[in-house]
Amino acid sequence: MASLAVKYRPRDFSDLVGQVHAAQSLKNAIEFKNIGHAYLFYGSRGVGKTSTARILAKALNCEKGPTTEPCGVCSHCIEITKGTSMDVIEMDAASNRGIDHIRDLRENVWFAPMRARYKIYIIDEVHMLTTESFNALLKTLEEPPSHVVFILATTEMHKIPETILSRCQSFAFRRFSLKEIQARLAFILKEEKKEYEEEALFPIAEKADGSMRDAISLLDQVAAFAGKEKMTVAMVGVVLGIPRQELFFEFLDSIRNRNTKTAFHIIHTLSEEGQNLRRFIWDVLTIVKNITVLKEIPDNAELDISPSLRDELVKQGQAWDSRELMAFFDTLFAMYSSPSLYTSSRSSEVRIAFEMALLDLFDKLTRPSVSALLSRLKGLESALSSGMPYEEKTAASQKSLPEKREAAPEKTVITSTTVPAVPQPPGPTPEEMEEAESRALLEREFMAEEVDTQTGSMFG
Ligand SMILES: [Zn+2]
Repeated sequence: MASLAVKYRPRDFSDLVGQVHAAQSLKNAIEFKNIGHAYLFYGSRGVGKTSTARILAKALNCEKGPTTEPCGVCSHCIEITKGTSMDVIEMDAASNRGIDHIRDLRENVWFAPMRARYKIYIIDEVHMLTTESFNALLKTLEEPPSHVVFILATTEMHKIPETILSRCQSFAFRRFSLKEIQARLAFILKEEKKEYEEEALFPIAEKADGSMRDAISLLDQVAAFAGKEKMTVAMVGVVLGIPRQELFFEFLDSIRNRNTKTAFHIIHTLSEEGQNLRRFIWDVLTIVKNITVLKEIPDNAELDISPSLRDELVKQGQAWDSRELMAFFDTLFAMYSSPSLYTSSRSSEVRIAFEMALLDLFDKLTRPSVSALLSRLKGLESALSSGMPYEEKTAASQKSLPEKREAAPEKTVITSTTVPAVPQPPGPTPEEMEEAESRALLEREFMAEEVDTQTGSMFG
């Protein structure tokens, strides 16, 4: 069986989902017989540049053409699809052979096409050409023979010399949205009569990162794994090496509940499974960002996520305190983007930095907030003025840190009349000293555990 990627490669302009602008402009050029001598397709990988180049080649050389609807069955169309047409020369500028081709190009370009209407040069990754090759190409572009069409494709437009750019008609190929990728995958699965869980498409689309080609290859892998069974989200996780979705929420819950043990256990499990921790951190950051967005704008339609994930994120948003969420994001992002970690390729280093960042975060989250201190001060003041004994409201929760969550600070409206002036924070209270002690103990336990579980030196 042909791979899905080959089977579902776009074959004519109507197949070019997502690239409507390029498809329409090229169709117009053919319809109004206004065919240029050089086209430049630019955009990230896997967005249909080469496929479009082949469709354009078919449109120009089809026996029934030039036509906006190449027949797909004449000898020219078939040869172009197979990549065997003598008159459609595909070269990859990144390879040595590509450079040789360009060297010969200046002479060969003058020979008429063997059988077809046009001689078409498709040069992929054109930004990789050497200066010498660019000069050879430029000479040809300055005075192109009427039977020649160049289609240049690149992922790095800024590396193309201005002299070349000015002689090409350029078309931007945009990355596909998650929705477009999911729709295409759903279409393919329907065509293949393959049963699947709706939720299974999302992680595939996300991993493909805007590339339709990558998305379909990934789908191919998962479909092969599923065999005759229904394709599930769990299968996608296994094949693509993506941690299951619930794990992310378990992790978030562990942070919210100050449950260091569970959080560290999840990191340990991910490491054991050989998961990419950096990727996990990035996914957690994305989830936290989305929770925050949905907390602010609950009906945000631009978030490209599945309905069930949206429900889960809204639920999380209700459970989280906004400031704590921000502290979570800031701490993790600072760690994720620190230069020393960026240059490190060792997963053990990422793990240590990750765990220490979490300890730092737990420390931040358990430290009493200014508003909590103010409310306590207010309580003491009113107790003094009324002569009634002062009742410590949050003492119980503070003593049992960090396993239990600190009670959310009371929403006290502080006006200039209720609190005359903001005093300096007092020195450490007995509770705070106790808290510092338990934190130090926790860190010592963590260090001991690390040395136990790792065979090598933790500093080596
Ligand atoms: Zn044809």
